[in-house]
Amino acid sequence: MIPFNRPPVVGTELASITDAIKSNKLCGDGPFTESCKRWIESNFDTPLALLTPSCTAALEMAAILIDIRPGDEVIMPSYTFVSTANAFVLRGARVVFVDIRPDTMNMDESLIELAVNKNTKAIVPVHYAGVGCDMDEIMSIAAKYRLWVIEDAAQGVMSRYGGTALGTIGHLGCYSFHGTKNYTSGGEGGALLVNDDELIERAEVIREKGTDRSRFCRGQVDKYTWRDIGSSFLMSDLQAAYLNAQLEQAEVINNKRIDLWTRYANNLKVLEEHGLIEIQYIPSKAQPNAHMFYIKLKDIDMRTELISFLKGREVISSFHYIPLHTSPAGMEFGSFLGEDKFTTKESERLLRLPMYYNLPEADVDFVCQCIRDFFI
Ligand SMILES: *Cc1c(COP(=O)(O)O)cnc(C)c1O
Repeated sequence: MIPFNRPPVVGTELASITDAIKSNKLCGDGPFTESCKRWIESNFDTPLALLTPSCTAALEMAAILIDIRPGDEVIMPSYTFVSTANAFVLRGARVVFVDIRPDTMNMDESLIELAVNKNTKAIVPVHYAGVGCDMDEIMSIAAKYRLWVIEDAAQGVMSRYGGTALGTIGHLGCYSFHGTKNYTSGGEGGALLVNDDELIERAEVIREKGTDRSRFCRGQVDKYTWRDIGSSFLMSDLQAAYLNAQLEQAEVINNKRIDLWTRYANNLKVLEEHGLIEIQYIPSKAQPNAHMFYIKLKDIDMRTELISFLKGREVISSFHYIPLHTSPAGMEFGSFLGEDKFTTKESERLLRLPMYYNLPEADVDFVCQCIRDFFI
């Protein structure tokens, strides 16, 4: 059987975890957290990277940090994971969903301005498949209307846009180290990138249960006190040890995934030339991390047929997301701006093929052979 996903394993994780156990420092902000933090800050060029229990938690921190309150509105695509919306709804915001571009499945930047009104507080671009949104346009709209930009870069670790790391372009960026993502801290994990200097001090407070414990630990205050709202948004150092082993091999993992992605594309090109499928499109400014490889079929019926054909050959393929604006909570907490031209239609045609670091090349060839067989 060829599974759809396996968490990445590079081989050094166990030694790293053993070191963490021996260090007797397993709480948050231990030596491995510090190492991951420095790695992210220096490789991606951001002033502060805070490891969190998940990307969901990082998004929730972001919503607290920008002071989302009841009555505020937040603009985002409907084609995304629930956490993108939930984090802001938890603070009382209403979500305004905008349509996606059919080529990248990312939020259509030309629709954002139509969604802005006096209640708008933030734009939340989601870099689908690790392919960067049009951040030039999004940042200029945000500057014009003085809005916050929070990048949901859950899928975009190691991706760049015009040379700049995803997650470091907006005021805040959120990464996921979940087991289904390119790098994992042992199944669950994430990070909040604080790119705006003015948010740094409060970000540390919110993450430490609303206290200035981070400053206390650095010797900057002589006792720590409750200063603000907050929660426990720290990652265990045991998990950071797992992540650190993978970040040390980040280039290796990234290159391997890009090779697998290219292998899929080359293998399936002939079907695209015959107009039978479409292969994932990469705009020239995006430098993605091969988080996923997807194709698009004629319609949902053909996708259903192909999924079961592949299953018959023990290949597991997958799709996601049920657009949020058509889900019960999405209807309660948000609304779609204008016409849904592409979100539903394109999401129904999309099919993700097995993609993970330890996927053998021969398996990619086999999956492609199965897909060619399906069409012949
Ligand atoms: C995976 C994912 C998340 C959630 O990440 P967790 O680390 O599991 O909380 C959020 N947004 C997007 C777009 C994702 O793909």
